[in-house]
Amino acid sequence: MDDAALFALLVELHRDGERQGPGSEKDTLRALALTQLDTSAALQVADMGCGTGASTLVLASQLKNAHITAVDLFPDFLDILSQRISAGGYSEQVETLAASMDALPFTEASLDLIWSEGAIYNMGFAKGIEAWKTLLRPGGVLAVSEITWLHPDPPKEIQRYWHHEYPEIATASEKIAILERGGYDLMGYFVLPSTSWIQNYYKPTEDRIPAFLQRHAGQLDAEDLVKVERQEADLYQRFQDWFSYGFYIARNRG
Ligand code: SAH
Repeated sequence: MDDAALFALLVELHRDGERQGPGSEKDTLRALALTQLDTSAALQVADMGCGTGASTLVLASQLKNAHITAVDLFPDFLDILSQRISAGGYSEQVETLAASMDALPFTEASLDLIWSEGAIYNMGFAKGIEAWKTLLRPGGVLAVSEITWLHPDPPKEIQRYWHHEYPEIATASEKIAILERGGYDLMGYFVLPSTSWIQNYYKPTEDRIPAFLQRHAGQLDAEDLVKVERQEADLYQRFQDWFSYGFYIARNRG
């Protein structure tokens, strides 16, 4: 299957979801509290890889005087986010930007807060935090969730899977060391709970699958995509004690 066809199917399966990756309103609020930012200030904020805006909308509800740019590669996700922005009454605060997170038009040192949930893996954690540091003002804050081993020495099956899917997976201490070497100081870290994966992401995705398969009856590429999604959910169910998203909140040392 070519990339364009795969992306079209992926977007179709996920655009009707509340979110496109694990997380929750509670997780977003917890991370926001750890930024120690003044929530009434006129902050310049970017939400990288925002999807249909699960985190963007929570940020907009809390940061009343901020300007939030919600960035995603896929305009279809942003179209849905735009509807959610209007419905929530956030049109003054939030704008959407269809762009790749590794080629962004922001001015250097212009952002007070960079947010990214379940998305930095698309450019890789090390590359992402380096590129985004130049966009943050000194003292600006990065809040990012990243796939993390919860213990050293995971079982071979899950190790093989992740080393194939995302070789940058590592324990929190390794991720924190990358942040510190990259010019950030850690302000907080926590692990996304299982409910943020299963209730908020895998279960709603699974609920949309029968209709998706019906729309694509007999199409092998759609069936293959469903297999991959179900394999991922199954691996999470079986190995959830070993990995999760870690949420890292860190300040640009300047
Ligand atoms: N933050 C959202 C979506 C997470 S899924 C949430 O938590 O629900 C990852 C998102 O990254 C998807 O919306 C996908 O379209 C987006 N994405 C993938 N590659 C990207 C890139 N190069 N630049 C910007 N966004 C990208």
